This record gives sequence, C-alpha cells and structure tokens, in this order.
Amino acid sequence: MPSKTISKEALEELQDAVGEKNASADPGLLQVYSYMNSLGNAVIGVWWVPAVAVTLPSTTEEVQAILRICKKHGYKVRPHSSAWIVAALAMSSDVVLMDLRRMDNLIEINERDGYAVVEPYCSAGEQQVEIMKKGLNSHVNGAGPNASNLASATSVQGSGGTSQSMSNSERNHLGAELCLPNGEEILYIGSPGTPEAGYFCGDGPGPSLRGMLRGAIGNGGAYGVFTKCGMKCYPWNSEPFHCEGSPPFFNAKPLPNYSLRIAFWPDYDSECDALYRIGEAELVDFCTRFGAGVFEETCSVTNEEYMSMVDSQLYRNTFPKGCWTFSIAAGHPEEHDFRLKALEHIVEDTNGIIIDPADLGHDANQVTFQTAIRGAYVFKAAYMPTGAWSCFPPMSYETIDNLCKLTMPINVDIKKELIAKEAIEDDFYDNVYMSTDEHSHFGHNESPYSVELWEPKGQDLEGVVKATLEGWKKKIPIIYSPIPTEGDGFGVYASYLIKIYHMMDPERVMDAPQAMFGIVRKLDDIDELEIEKAPGKVPA
Ligand SMILES: Cc1cc2nc3c(=O)[nH]c(=O)nc-3n(C[C@H](O)[C@H](O)[C@H](O)COP(=O)(O)OP(=O)(O)OC[C@H]3O[C@@H](n4cnc5c(N)ncnc54)[C@H](O)[C@@H]3O)c2cc1C
Repeated sequence: MPSKTISKEALEELQDAVGEKNASADPGLLQVYSYMNSLGNAVIGVWWVPAVAVTLPSTTEEVQAILRICKKHGYKVRPHSSAWIVAALAMSSDVVLMDLRRMDNLIEINERDGYAVVEPYCSAGEQQVEIMKKGLNSHVNGAGPNASNLASATSVQGSGGTSQSMSNSERNHLGAELCLPNGEEILYIGSPGTPEAGYFCGDGPGPSLRGMLRGAIGNGGAYGVFTKCGMKCYPWNSEPFHCEGSPPFFNAKPLPNYSLRIAFWPDYDSECDALYRIGEAELVDFCTRFGAGVFEETCSVTNEEYMSMVDSQLYRNTFPKGCWTFSIAAGHPEEHDFRLKALEHIVEDTNGIIIDPADLGHDANQVTFQTAIRGAYVFKAAYMPTGAWSCFPPMSYETIDNLCKLTMPINVDIKKELIAKEAIEDDFYDNVYMSTDEHSHFGHNESPYSVELWEPKGQDLEGVVKATLEGWKKKIPIIYSPIPTEGDGFGVYASYLIKIYHMMDPERVMDAPQAMFGIVRKLDDIDELEIEKAPGKVPA
C-alpha cells in the first residue's frame, strides 16, 4: 500500500513534543518498522505498510501530545508495546507509529493487596522476576516472558499455560489508564477512577467497562493508548526461580515442592475425560498441550541439529500424539505429594501415560521447566526451523470437548494433508497447542505450522481455506470468538462493536481498520445505530 510522507510541520511538532531524537521519518527507520516475521506472516508476508513517522514517547503527557498533533494534521496513530504481532505495525497508509519502549517501568508492587502496576514496555518476565522476590507470581501468556503484560491485559488475547491457575490476562487486569484518541481526556478503568484508590479492581460498579473495551481478545489499539495497568499477582509458595548458564537450556535450580510431568493419551476421548478430571480436582498450576514437533524445535540449537532430531524420531516415538505438560507448585510437601499422586491416578485411570521430563534428558527437562514457569518455549519453536509461521484455523475458545473432539481433528487432518504434499514443514502434524482456563471446562487451541514460502512446493493458503470451510461446516468459531457464527448473533455483536468504536474515537485518530470488520457482515444493523450521525467516514 503506498504510504504518504509526513509534513515538515507535523514532524517538527512531534519532535518538539518528545525530543528531536524521539520522532523520526527517516526512510531506513520506517522500513525497519514495517518488517515483522510473526504470527500470521505465512499468510500475509513479512513486509507490512510503512508508517509515515515513528515516535517514542516517555510519559502519558507525551502520548497525549502525539495524539493531539496527529488529530490536528490528519494522521492516524498505531501504538505498540513490545510489538510481538503484526497488528502492532501500521495497518493503513498514513500512520504515525507510537513505540512505547521508553515507558518500561514497573511502577509499583503492592504486596499487601497482591498487584503490580506496569507501563506498556514492562515485560511479563521482568514483572515476574521482581514480584517473585516478594513471594508473588503472575500469569505469563503463551507468547512468552518477552511480551508486554499491559498489552496482553488491555489490548490482545492473553491465554497461556498458567491460565489454569492464574487465569487469562484479561481477568488479571485490575484497572488501567487509557489516553483517549482526542489526546485531551484520560479514562480510568476500574478502581483507579477513584482518587487514591489504587489498582485493585478492574471493573465496576455497574456494567463492565473493562469487558466493553476489551472483550475476549482485546481491541487491538482501536480505542486509544493504554499507559498504565494494574496486574493481579498470586501467591508464589516457592523460592524465586533461579537459573544459570546459557540459553536456551540454562541450569535452573530445582524448586522445593515443585514437580513437572508430561502426559499423553491414546485418543481424544480419554484425553478429554482426563482434562476435565484434572481441572475439577484443581491439581496443576501449568497446563499446556503441544507435540513432538515442539520438542524438536526447542531442544535443538541449529537447523542441522533439528533435522537430525527429526531423523532420529526420538520425540516422535515418545509422543506419537500431542502431549500435555503439567506443573505442580505446592505450598508444602504433603500437598505436593497428594496432588502428584492424584494426577498420576487420573492419567492412569484414563488410559494415559505419564512421564517425568527428567527422563527425557537435561535439555528437554530444562525447556519444560522454563516453559512451565515462564512460558518460554513458544518463541523459539515458532521461529525454527523455517522463515515463516502461522496457525491454521479453527483457533478458538471452546469447551474442552469441542476442542478435543471437533477442532483438533480438523487441525490435525489439514496438517497431515499439507505435510504429505510437502507444502509445510513436517512437524509430526499433531503439534496442536491448547491451554485450559481456571481449572474449568474451557480452553483455547491453536494449530501452529511452519512454512518456507520460497520453496517450490511451499504454500499454506490451501490449508487456511480448507480449515476455515471445515470449521464452518461444524459451526466452530474460526478465530477465537465463542460468538454465534450464524443467525443474528454475530451481526448484533458486530453492531455493538461499531457503536463502541464510534463513541471512543469519533474523529478516527486511531489506526483501526479491524474495528470496521463488523460492517461488512451486517449492514442492516448499522442504521439502527445511527452511525451516519457520527463524524468521519464509514467505508461503504
Ligand atoms: C510466537 C508467538 C506466540 C504467541 N502466543 C500467544 C499466546 O499463547 N497467548 C496470547 O495471548 N497471545 C499470544 N501471542 C500474541 C501476542 O504477542 C501476545 O498476546 C502479547 O502478549 C501481546 O503483547 P505485545 O507487547 O507483543 O503487544 P503488541 O504486539 O505490541 O501489540 C498488540 C496489539 O495491541 C495494541 N497495543 C499494544 N500496546 C498498546 C497500548 N499500550 N495501548 C493500546 N493498544 C496497544 C497494538 O496496536 C496491537 O494491535 C503470540 C505471539 C507470537 C509472536
């Protein structure tokens, strides 16, 4: 998409607001900010729309000044925190990127009330290291410790292996500071809206503003710029996690009253039954599924080593189907032993096999340990062994039954088909990622794949189209939402989203083409919402 250039006047105003070094329209720099190999790149490519300028604010006031300048000169604003997904880059042609990396403070740790207040570029790992010293722990979503906790809680999805015991990021959001797109007002969500109250509650009283602004998977930067967020912390019964040595394996010190186990089942029915029972008994702290492919990708350091692991079939023979990793982090030895015995009993009773990852050797054990505490495996697995990766649909939030019995078989069949054609990397097809929430009957799945698009047979679109059609046939949400995908359900939901969008950003300052998706689906509802009265244009 062709990009405009920024006017000299607007650039000077931005530089006056944040300092000359912190606002730039240098063409080389803009190119750097338009390249990303991340989730979805297999489908869309690695080059994205170049922005017209990049800004690096360091305070809430500077964020507001950038919003005002952009509004005045007709540019759009796209905020990003740690920019781990493409939706953090410009999505239209006249965008000023707001890279929030200078706002990286862990502002407060409130031990008594169990929360931390963070800025956008404070990573989940950084927060975890500091709060563990005070006997607290927090959820690290599956993107890993490098991603921004604030972005996860306010603007994106937020699930991961520790969702089982520490919930998804959206539920750990205990209030936030949001700079509205007009650059004039600040909206406090939850308890920080009451002076001196602190960040102890993300909502209320009354209807859920937090829910309205983020829903299940976040608003993706459509409603303004979040500059502070309260994050819920949970008790950490053990010593702070300590590791020495070099990545990716490290030498982490074993923790007292802490165990790891890997389990797998012969079929989806028994896997599903076991997960319900493990959840209902509230036995495990970390709970995530993946397969042999992830072990190959994380336990190798080079692609050569990866290929020899594939050839050896070591992990493929060990895990003929996907497997679950569980951790138990108990408060005292009796509790630990009880939870471990109960877990072993349930796995055996449902015809599963349970192993101690220590039996897989030092590297696999360390990777499992890092993953269970810090969600650390994903980024390495995602970027090895090819140049691009993504996830095939359906990718949803559903009951464990639906995930295991409807969604996962589609995921696996599509992968088998494309692997047989050598269109995508052979990662032993059942590498389906799943995590479950709050010891409940609900979870999330993704079916990652790696592809080399410049290889003659390399392609993934066939898989995306087929998987989407298969999902639709079975009425499974294609991407995340448990919203009804037929009848009026989706239309009504989309209409409300549009209504909220018009209310939050009537002057269209934010770069948010995704906020318009709903319009395409059900135009009839729009009249009812009187959108024509809102300023700005709605695409036909
Ligand atoms: C390999 C990989 C694995 C992943 N696995 C998971 C997973 O298991 N679970 C999961 O939940 N997510 C996952 N993700 C998606 C995403 O990276 C995470 O949700 C991450 O926590 C988001 O944080 P971020 O700093 O990367 O956000 P960014 O990439 O910086 O931004 C994400 C979106 O939020 C908006 N945004 C960011 N900061 C702000 C702000 N301060 N104010 C307003 N809008 C803002 C951006 O405009 C963008 O639309 C994964 C991504 C990758 C690349």
